Amino acid sequence: MPLSSSTSRTSSGYEVRRLHLDPTPQMEALARAAGDLYTRTVVSFWRTVRKQAVWLKPSSMMRWHTSGQLHAHSADAVVQSFYAALKSWRKRRKMDPHAKPPHHRRRYYRVQWKSSAIRVQNGCLVLSNGRGNAPLIVPWSWDRPVLVELGWTGATYELRCVYQREDSVSPPLGDGVAGVDLGEVHLAVVHDGQHTTIFNGHALRAKRQYQNKIQATLAAKQSRLKKGSRRWRKLQRSKRKQLRQLDHQIRDLLHKQTTALVSTLHASRVQTVVIGDVRDLRQRVDYGSAANQRIHQMVTGRVRWLITYKAERRGMRGVLQDEAYTSQECPRCLHRHKPQGRDYRCPACGFCFHRDGVGAINIRRKYLGLGPVVGVMASPTGVRWHPHQRARVAR
Ligand SMILES: [Zn+2]
Repeated sequence: MPLSSSTSRTSSGYEVRRLHLDPTPQMEALARAAGDLYTRTVVSFWRTVRKQAVWLKPSSMMRWHTSGQLHAHSADAVVQSFYAALKSWRKRRKMDPHAKPPHHRRRYYRVQWKSSAIRVQNGCLVLSNGRGNAPLIVPWSWDRPVLVELGWTGATYELRCVYQREDSVSPPLGDGVAGVDLGEVHLAVVHDGQHTTIFNGHALRAKRQYQNKIQATLAAKQSRLKKGSRRWRKLQRSKRKQLRQLDHQIRDLLHKQTTALVSTLHASRVQTVVIGDVRDLRQRVDYGSAANQRIHQMVTGRVRWLITYKAERRGMRGVLQDEAYTSQECPRCLHRHKPQGRDYRCPACGFCFHRDGVGAINIRRKYLGLGPVVGVMASPTGVRWHPHQRARVAR
């Protein structure tokens, strides 16, 4: 049973509820497991520095050291806290030459539960631990916290429960709905009601074309050889290697572009991401073999998945919207017309906009069930892929 409870507010938009708990063997065991993991992290980190002159990344360390007793995310938190200490030492070192890096072993260490391991059930706070280990259960009469930490005060255990303060959640701009049109010329075009952003697909197309070219030239060379001969096998190996390399480049490009896209959505506080659905494109019409190859290769399925999971990781919702005629309909007067050239020009009302932006505007409009869109639209902004584009980690 909790001995006492108090709450305090921090400046960063969080509220902390503190509960003092009588020690139990279970808390003892969890703190020991965290201490053991922390110690293994410290020891292996410095050993790798000493013996191999390598500073291991947090991700490698998390894969290397895990704990059976702790929830997987709680184990990650222990490793992360070592790296946080390391980071603060590197910063402090600039001012203080005597600053010491974190190197102490710990018998006990604080245990953190992240949101995925926290439940409130039948008047109890249930904190999940590693598979096969009983959860830590505390009588509870409050809301579900976003983060819980179990620490030692010197006499009792203290449960620190972190809440996000209501007023720190930013309200959405507009209605918080963005339309996403996935395509071939452009990887994706986003419209959030005010702004249109185009993610250029030129680099991807070039790599795709190169892939086809390698495929074709090497197949032609191989066709003149006996299948399975030494020369034939050599060509086969070379083909596989080149194709694999290109595959890796394409994967890198898709990840960076979709991360940039989701960051854009997040920055404009979008809550619902509406993605145009083209899944039955192949079955519907036969476009002839050249177009079929392009459409078949369209990575829209992969892009759709990447955008959806990255958006959901940041708390947004992903929905699909049938995109029939969205590239042809005039957003202002709903007249249908097949655009020619770069710009969409409506012959009925004179509306003119970048051709690829029209699809995203219409997808969003259809999802919201809106009629014609009125008002002046800002010109779209373009985002080109470049190899050193940062793949920012979503937090
Ligand atoms: Zn029109």
